[in-house]
Amino acid sequence: MPFILGVDIGGTDIKLGIVDDSAAAAPFSREIVSGTIPTRAGEGPELAAARVRAWCEERDAAPAAAGIACAGLIDGARGILHVSPNLAGWIDVPLRALFERELGVPAAVENDANAAAYGEWRAGAGRGLRSFVCLTLGTGVGGGIVLDGSLYRGATGFAGEIGHTVILADGPPCACGSRGCLEALIGAPAITRRARELYGAREGTPAGSGSIGSVADLARAAAAGDEIASRVFEETGRFLGVALANVVHILAPEAIVVGGGVAGAGEILFGPARETLRRCVMDASMAEVRIVPAELGNRAAVLGSALLARAEAGGAR
Ligand SMILES: [Zn+2]
Repeated sequence: MPFILGVDIGGTDIKLGIVDDSAAAAPFSREIVSGTIPTRAGEGPELAAARVRAWCEERDAAPAAAGIACAGLIDGARGILHVSPNLAGWIDVPLRALFERELGVPAAVENDANAAAYGEWRAGAGRGLRSFVCLTLGTGVGGGIVLDGSLYRGATGFAGEIGHTVILADGPPCACGSRGCLEALIGAPAITRRARELYGAREGTPAGSGSIGSVADLARAAAAGDEIASRVFEETGRFLGVALANVVHILAPEAIVVGGGVAGAGEILFGPARETLRRCVMDASMAEVRIVPAELGNRAAVLGSALLARAEAGGAR
């Protein structure tokens, strides 16, 4: 099965990739054709699937299987998307059946963070590991778990929602309906909102904070010595550290692979996170868990979903 299609459906764009899984791509599978098309979620999943088929036809790509990833609660075993924060109106969509009908090949459906974890496992920073957790820090906070040599989905298929573990009881509201979730504290919008609140409360013009539009702006301000920016990252790192300690206490993984735009802030975030992790774990040895950067960037879910589809079609996981 040399060529497989990977599809990562986001709120704005659908990322597509044809993945070469033949011996020629050894030692690691890789994307040989990459593309992006608009999602236009309001037009519904059927038309989105039709646009994916058109993209393949335009490139004369005839994949042998297709992997579909998107954010939300997904029952991979039954191939159903229950609900997605990014795709309004896509409720209880039989995504697998829909794509199989449209593309005429076997399809696999998976949560995007789980697909990213699988991609990092097979072709990225998780290569060779048997148990690790993959965290994606961006607008949302995604989590995926590889446990004892397989992707762990739990009884419902919804396992790995580390972004919605509660870090601060009665904390700020989260998009999921709960409060104080990791995502509501360290998702990019939460970080920039806290920074703006602090700048707003301070008199005078904040040094280096001319326009805090993004986490990258804030990281630059912190690097330039801005006190408020540094304080925000310190606090964000502490929240992340609590989450890492929880993960270590529950799963004791070999490593935690961290990716996503917010992770680009680097040591100003991970320094306080490691410090908090050390303080929160029962035994110092537990804080020795390796925290390693993800390798596949924002293509992890494309590659991972394709490789999952290959594994499912081949009867192996
Ligand atoms: Zn939440």
